[in-house]
Amino acid sequence: MFDVVIIGLGPAGSTLARLLAGRKVLCLDKKAPQPGGFEKPCGGLLAPDAQKALARFDLTLPKSVLVAPQLFSVRTLDLSTGLCRHYQRFYVNMDRDKFDRWLMSLIPSSAEVKEDARVTNITRDADGAFTVTFVQNGQTQTAHAKRVAGADGADSLVRRTFFPAHQIRSYVAVQQCFKETHKSPFYSCIFDPAQTDCYSWSVSKDGYFIFGGAYPAQDCRARFERQKQALEKYGFQFGAPVKTEACRVLRPAGWNEFCLGEKGVFLIGEAAGLISPSSLEGISSALISARRLAQSLSAEPGAEEHRRYARGTFGLRVKLWGKLLKCPFMYRPFLRKYVMKSGVQSIRIIR
Ligand SMILES: Cc1cc2nc3c(=O)[nH]c(=O)nc-3n(C[C@H](O)[C@H](O)[C@H](O)COP(=O)(O)OP(=O)(O)OC[C@H]3O[C@@H](n4cnc5c(N)ncnc54)[C@H](O)[C@@H]3O)c2cc1C
Repeated sequence: MFDVVIIGLGPAGSTLARLLAGRKVLCLDKKAPQPGGFEKPCGGLLAPDAQKALARFDLTLPKSVLVAPQLFSVRTLDLSTGLCRHYQRFYVNMDRDKFDRWLMSLIPSSAEVKEDARVTNITRDADGAFTVTFVQNGQTQTAHAKRVAGADGADSLVRRTFFPAHQIRSYVAVQQCFKETHKSPFYSCIFDPAQTDCYSWSVSKDGYFIFGGAYPAQDCRARFERQKQALEKYGFQFGAPVKTEACRVLRPAGWNEFCLGEKGVFLIGEAAGLISPSSLEGISSALISARRLAQSLSAEPGAEEHRRYARGTFGLRVKLWGKLLKCPFMYRPFLRKYVMKSGVQSIRIIR
């Protein structure tokens, strides 16, 4: 009987596993262990909040995780008005696959880690504990645990199993990778209300150019292609894609959309809907919620753990909810036009 089974070893799951050193923990992730076995599309930008969370853990980022170039500004484009502004940014440009593997490498040996292990079913037993069924190397296996920590991302099986009625606003993120051909690499943020009420982005990474966006599910691929076509007029160079990826991305639309779990089931990171609705930045929330859950668990399961976890994540949830207030200025075309035209906080590029 494990104390906790952690499902998913993204930033949230790996951090929780690291912080539960000494406890009887089982970690399951469907990712294949070899580098490159990573499938989740990501911009791979480490925002200041995530940097601060790592600083709190006294962790420093290894050089192997970084990619070139490091970018200091974002080119913001509004395709509905043709306005373009540059804003200073403080992101770290990194290889997301290597970042996740580095976090996994910090999991202490007291935890049992199973990679290439896809969880297919979770049930609550009569005694209140859980049976988790997973498939590893074609073999179906089961494990028993007192608690389940769902760190399995946007499309969380844990959330769907135990909270099937819980809805969180979601989009389909489509991302392609191309050989970099731009003379000067850049990071961009694109608003294009004709294709999506969310946003799109591009970033250069180690000789590759990544372009992605979050779209309503209907016609997401066609919207993505139409946007690429429109961006060619703004000097974007695409060419033949080296890789095409897509996944669900959550964008909570209100306080009640966060889902922390109950009765021995805990959700952390994006599985809990903890992601910025304005920028879709989710790594910091994954790290913070994992820390808060680790602090909340006691020797035996009980309702007090859930109360502690809810209290511990209150500030984070307020912060994410607060970002909803910022959304109109970014996503309402007339307000965005006003903000961009004003030039407030923008920087002038001198060539
Ligand atoms: C296209 C895109 C770009 C993004 N760019 C950024 C960015 O630049 N910066 C940023 O901060 N955030 C970004 N985000 C958000 C960020 O990626 C997520 O919010 C963050 O990864 C959440 O971390 P997590 O650990 O909660 O979940 P995830 O990172 O999604 O990890 C979930 C883990 O669970 C595993 N898993 C899932 N289901 C199962 C199962 N059934 N069995 C076993 N294992 C399972 C997966 O393999 C994965 O390892 C982006 C999101 C998208 C979609």
